[in-house]
Amino acid sequence: MVELKEITVIYNHNQVNEKIALKNLNLKIEKGDFISIIGSNGAGKSTLFKVLSGTIKPFSGEYFLDGESMNKISSHLLAKRISIVYQNPEMGVFPDLTIKENLILGSKKGFRGLKFGKMPSLDLLKGLNMKLENRLNTKVRELSGGQKQALALILAVLSNPKILLLDEHTAALDPDSTEIIMNLTKQINEKLGITILMITHDLNIAQKFGQKVLKMEEGKLVEKILNVA
Ligand code: ADP
Repeated sequence: MVELKEITVIYNHNQVNEKIALKNLNLKIEKGDFISIIGSNGAGKSTLFKVLSGTIKPFSGEYFLDGESMNKISSHLLAKRISIVYQNPEMGVFPDLTIKENLILGSKKGFRGLKFGKMPSLDLLKGLNMKLENRLNTKVRELSGGQKQALALILAVLSNPKILLLDEHTAALDPDSTEIIMNLTKQINEKLGITILMITHDLNIAQKFGQKVLKMEEGKLVEKILNVA
């Protein structure tokens, strides 16, 4: 489904502060995979996500999505196919809008034009057991971090993306919220069949939820730890 072939990313090319962030990286992802990515700071994990989401173009190498080259495609065209959730819940929601307005806007992601989106199904929201479905007119800024992140995750999958990228999406949450968010993440993979790549520093979470755990080091995927759980 996704194939990265010999991807190299160089920041500040030919300058004194040149940095090779990805070095001839190869990766194959199959539909429905749930892959955890671990690795120390500076290993190149975020850069890998930037390549997958089209935010940066590789210096060399090929990126295929469903057999189609993504090397020249712009990030806004990839936005419907690839969603990202970040560590900071505020980044995935519109805090000054209500839950309902967030859901309507989320269902429009990746579509151009002024046509207003439709209210999507509330099934995922109801499944959280956070009673957010009874607070549709509440402004999102009034929600807790865990509730905002749950909403961010739901918004990220409303457009039915091919891949969901999770960049340490539970790192800022308390243990209870982490459990809720990880259960929702699992459901998104298993019930909706959405392929997931998850960066985490939590090895327990990486192994418990990922079908595969890949380790990044100095711009390469150096180790493949098969899940023993
Ligand atoms: P990780 O997400 O694993 O912490 P990054 O992908 O953020 O790693 O960074 C990989 C390397 O590239 C690091 O050495 C980092 O300092 C460098 N880097 C990241 N972004 C930039 C940038 N915009 N300009 C220059 N160097 C960068």
